[in-house]
Amino acid sequence: MTDRRAELATNLERLEERISAACEDAGRKREEVTTIVVTKTYPADDVRLLAGLGVRHVAENRDQDAAPKAAECAELPLTWHFVGQLQTNKVRSVVGYADMVQSVDRVKLVRALSAAAVRAGREIGCLVQVALDAESGQAGARGGVAPDGVPAVADAVAAADGLRLDGVMTVAPLAGPYAGRQRAAFERLLEISSGLRASHPAANMVSAGMSTDLEDAVRAGATHVRVGTAVLGVRPALR
Ligand SMILES: *Cc1c(COP(=O)(O)O)cnc(C)c1O
Repeated sequence: MTDRRAELATNLERLEERISAACEDAGRKREEVTTIVVTKTYPADDVRLLAGLGVRHVAENRDQDAAPKAAECAELPLTWHFVGQLQTNKVRSVVGYADMVQSVDRVKLVRALSAAAVRAGREIGCLVQVALDAESGQAGARGGVAPDGVPAVADAVAAADGLRLDGVMTVAPLAGPYAGRQRAAFERLLEISSGLRASHPAANMVSAGMSTDLEDAVRAGATHVRVGTAVLGVRPALR
């Protein structure tokens, strides 16, 4: 085993222990929580090692980095999630490799994704990204739609050809009433999720929690956690 492979294996084991413990604490079954490893800033070689270690879901947040990496890793049995703020001019590229887009936050983006998915002959799973730091009608600092804007974006996804409405996603806000209150933020996301499921019962994915706050997310009821640093190490620079 290479050093890097051994390091990733150890980190994945530790992560597994944390998620199992969080599930047990919350009285949830381990299978209810899926791990997505966020590979942004790390090379395709790491993605390959992760796939060899049993990882099946990876996420990226910048198309410029993700597109070549996904192309290098095309033969691996991986589901690719796009989790970054997405400009409509990147949509065509993203739809080429992403199975899921977790950062759907406006109707204009829904239209672009739908057109690109139809053109590519693909079905893309979509999560509505909720900005818990945004006021009504505003966007969040890190993308996302304010809670009261979720139904309009969700309905647009559900009605769009080539797209599948799978649920909601959030990033714990750094500002606003939920700053530093991850548990409360994720509980709010779960409320939003149950509101959504009242009209879209199949949209039951809840993507929340990262390296530092995944226990809070599991406790609140997240179905997917997105973990970068805890598996791959501290990223060289904030991007
Ligand atoms: C980078 C990133 C993560 C992972 O964050 P870590 O703190 O490295 O675990 C999760 N979600 C999104 C949207 C990200 O951009």
